[in-house]
Amino acid sequence: MAVASNRAATIEWVYDEDMGARHRLPRVHPRGLLLQLYDRIRGRDQLLIQAGDELPLVVASYPKGRAWFGASLQSALCSIFRSLSSEQRAVYREALDRTPSMVVVELRRANACGCLGHHHPPGTESRLARRLAADTGLVVGEIDLAVQSIREWQPLPLAALAAAVAATEQSSRAETSAELEYRRFHTALLAVFLHEIEHLAFPARPEQAVRRRSDEFYLSAMRDYVRVEYGVAYGI
Ligand SMILES: [Zn+2]
Ligand SMILES: [Zn+2]
Repeated sequence: MAVASNRAATIEWVYDEDMGARHRLPRVHPRGLLLQLYDRIRGRDQLLIQAGDELPLVVASYPKGRAWFGASLQSALCSIFRSLSSEQRAVYREALDRTPSMVVVELRRANACGCLGHHHPPGTESRLARRLAADTGLVVGEIDLAVQSIREWQPLPLAALAAAVAATEQSSRAETSAELEYRRFHTALLAVFLHEIEHLAFPARPEQAVRRRSDEFYLSAMRDYVRVEYGVAYGI
């Protein structure tokens, strides 16, 4: 799943299905590059996430010292996914049924190509995924997610959402927007995770269809949350 942002207001969608071959050349900020290298050389930690029968067993791998990357994915899979209606969860049932029972999720700060995530086709998996497959005898799938980019990504205008909520809410505006921000971030993380899972399960499906499904999933999850928690109908 891809979004290239030049840090201005414009957001340009690009395609992730060919692992970046058609992406625009990134404009990598030197500081971003240094941070990325730093993450790479200081090693990685892993977190095992068991989120119930409907989701695969996830081995999250993230740079040492960035435990919040793993904790955020855990919240997306364990708490947000379970809070959804069965209709919403059913949208990905077909893809999840075809997904390997173990999936390695490489959590990164950002991708140099600007994508929010990729699926890793068979044969391109990391050493960790290959080792897990050899040790367990299971088929192990792999995707990556750009956690910081997903956090900054705002397919819904959050400010407008927060304002709509605050207009009818007793709690303070700051409290409301912090709560909403976390919910939005973890819901977006779940939506990009499921988007990449669908690519893993159905490699031939066109990006447009996969993208439409994950966008609708995200919107419907956020709408329901805001309606139930705050009693606000939010139309886009
Ligand atoms: Zn995609
Ligand atoms: Zn990419």
